[in-house]
Amino acid sequence: MDFDLTEEHKMIRDMCRSFSQEIIFPRAEEIDRTGEYAYDIISKMAELGMMGIPISEQYGGSGGDWVGMHLCIEEVSRGDPTFGALLDVTTSVVAQELEVFGTEDQKRRWLIPIAKGERIGAFGLTEPDAGSDAASIRTRAMLDGNEWVINGTKQFITNIGLDNASIIIIAAVTKKAVKGRGRISTFIVPKDSPGFVLGKRYEKIGWHGSATHEVIFDDCHVPKDYMLGDSVKGFAQHLSVLQTGRISIAAMAVGAAQTCLSESLRYAGERVQFGKPIGDFQAIQFKLADMSVAIELARNQYLKAAWLKDQGRKHSFEATVAKLFASEMLEKVASDAVQIHGGYGYMAEYPVSRFYKGAKVLQIVEGTSEVMRIILSRELGQGTF
Ligand SMILES: Cc1cc2nc3c(=O)[nH]c(=O)nc-3n(C[C@H](O)[C@H](O)[C@H](O)COP(=O)(O)OP(=O)(O)OC[C@H]3O[C@@H](n4cnc5c(N)ncnc54)[C@H](O)[C@@H]3O)c2cc1C
Repeated sequence: MDFDLTEEHKMIRDMCRSFSQEIIFPRAEEIDRTGEYAYDIISKMAELGMMGIPISEQYGGSGGDWVGMHLCIEEVSRGDPTFGALLDVTTSVVAQELEVFGTEDQKRRWLIPIAKGERIGAFGLTEPDAGSDAASIRTRAMLDGNEWVINGTKQFITNIGLDNASIIIIAAVTKKAVKGRGRISTFIVPKDSPGFVLGKRYEKIGWHGSATHEVIFDDCHVPKDYMLGDSVKGFAQHLSVLQTGRISIAAMAVGAAQTCLSESLRYAGERVQFGKPIGDFQAIQFKLADMSVAIELARNQYLKAAWLKDQGRKHSFEATVAKLFASEMLEKVASDAVQIHGGYGYMAEYPVSRFYKGAKVLQIVEGTSEVMRIILSRELGQGTF
């Protein structure tokens, strides 16, 4: 067994770590306070090739692997997890779906600019009445001559509100069910399609730098060949990329938790009460020790899942374990980090308060903790052990 990162992995990790420390982290408080989208940071991430790490060179990427991509997501998330979310949706989900299922023409047209980071992608599954039960979506696509006409609403959509977002890949019903459920297919919908309406921007508890919007398709017309992949297997293919998304969420949680730990270590050394640094108290030391254990385990798990994916091996169990464990781990670590900071930890100027506000969402996006447990229970039923 070899747990060492390759030289290329170390290079990606170190480059992303410096970028995160020097460019993202110092701006994170201002971004969260103002809610302004940091286009300058996104452009620099693109220049460094972050959006295309695992995408093949012929489609604008650098031909790396998913371990490298997730090391990048962890490091970027140390500065601010919203940039990890941007990478997760753009690369792990949208770019991958285009690369695996797209036609040559679709890849040239949509994937290359996304892999180069010139344009950003969005993923649309969730609707007002369909979240965990994703197969119950109501957005409808009907063929009218050479065009699909799409009607429906997607909600809580990441990235689509960015000016440089080019497309959203959505799931829509193409055949209504007579009995049971109908047929769901996947479509590439450019933002400038007639009938595409960018809906309200959501006010969230945290993650203010991440663009989360509603999207309405009001007789939205796209050409017939904008269907992505197989018309019958569209739903399965749309869900399949979320498996990689789960590894990305785990990497984001690890990055965020790592900063909670580093900030807590620093603070525990500086803050003096009862005549000594609070880090001299065993109650604080044990919290820090527990944080490091949880982070280490979560990191090993997301790397294992990413490595299995790179080997072309089944990794749904490992990716689900990674997402569930890391997202729940972060909530505890962020809470302990605030506790170690005392009252200061509740103040916006202290980074741990921001990570605490943002922690909960990772247990919800791309499948809730409950859904992760349902998936794991099914895997156990199939004799995983
Ligand atoms: C900031 C943010 C960004 C997002 N970005 C995107 C995006 O880019 N694209 C996208 O498509 N979606 C996005 N989402 C949506 C997200 O994926 C959903 O919110 C999530 O899948 C849960 O769906 P829901 O909110 O409808 O909750 P529901 O499915 O209504 O769940 C409510 C509660 O019931 C539980 N529950 C549901 N079914 C079961 C069951 N069978 N057994 C046990 N418990 C159950 C859930 O676990 C949860 O606790 C985003 C959400 C947020 C908050």
